[in-house]
Amino acid sequence: MPHIVVVGSINMDLVTVAPRFPAPGETLLGHRFLSAHGGKGGNQAVAATRLGAEVHMVGAVGDDAFAQQLCEGLQQEGVDISHVVRIDDCSSGTASITVAGGENEIVVVPGANAQLQPSHVAKAQHLIAGADAVLVQMEIPLETVEATLRMAHAQRVPVILNPAPAQRLPTEWLQLARYITPNQHELAILLGADADEDFRSLMRRTPCPVVLTHGAEGAWFREQGEPQHQAGFAVEAVDSTGAGDTFNAAFAVFLQEGLPAAVRKACAAAALSVTHLGARGGMPRPIELDTLLA
Ligand code: ATP
Repeated sequence: MPHIVVVGSINMDLVTVAPRFPAPGETLLGHRFLSAHGGKGGNQAVAATRLGAEVHMVGAVGDDAFAQQLCEGLQQEGVDISHVVRIDDCSSGTASITVAGGENEIVVVPGANAQLQPSHVAKAQHLIAGADAVLVQMEIPLETVEATLRMAHAQRVPVILNPAPAQRLPTEWLQLARYITPNQHELAILLGADADEDFRSLMRRTPCPVVLTHGAEGAWFREQGEPQHQAGFAVEAVDSTGAGDTFNAAFAVFLQEGLPAAVRKACAAAALSVTHLGARGGMPRPIELDTLLA
């Protein structure tokens, strides 16, 4: 059972389904409302736990009603939340999503996620030192991302940086990552490249090993030499939300099997995740993954 530390965001997604988007100043009656636990960090922690890993989450929630629900949600999945801190006088992270006519509009308020400090990561140093892999994304302060990269690198623990949402990062930070896992759009932003540059050319000049997710087509990966392709698994797609999170989690869980095997299993796990509604709805268990891979 691999030990994984996830350093990242925890959000409550608040989803409203409306007949159309309201105009500025307008009040509109919606069709439906639902809330769902999310955040890239929380999602990746849950996906890795479902795949059988022992997962420790380093994150932050506020002092509102969502905080307890979000923590309980993680705990019920089996994620260790002893390093999830509560921030006083602060809201938990939220994503207010309006869905209308197949499009969506999203406002994310980072709340407590923006208060996750390098000192919180330092308190989990012993867990990071004993981990098989560390996963970090970019919905938390950049100094906390940097602290995570530096700590894992110093302990010789492979750290996977999922650079989402993307920002340009110093080359030196990328060199601390064992792998980065952007999609095509994120890789261009990360390197400060033109959006229309061929992704294989971008991958060749990425200063660290890279695994590039490519939607239904699967993923590309490059440690050195030419980028290699792993085809996507054919499934009936229902909702692609959370595909990237499931991919990252599975990649971390199976990393010890080597790069091609880990990418293949990550593609399979992510394909299963798109067959159900919601970010966490389709995150597979080992038996489902084994069936698809057989
Ligand atoms: P998101 O932000 O929506 O989670 P992303 O852009 O980070 O997505 P994608 O490249 O869209 O990530 O998807 C991640 C992985 O999920 C892909 O590499 C692929 O393996 C798998 N995947 C996504 N969509 C499909 C699909 N329709 N069919 C099969 N596999 C899919």
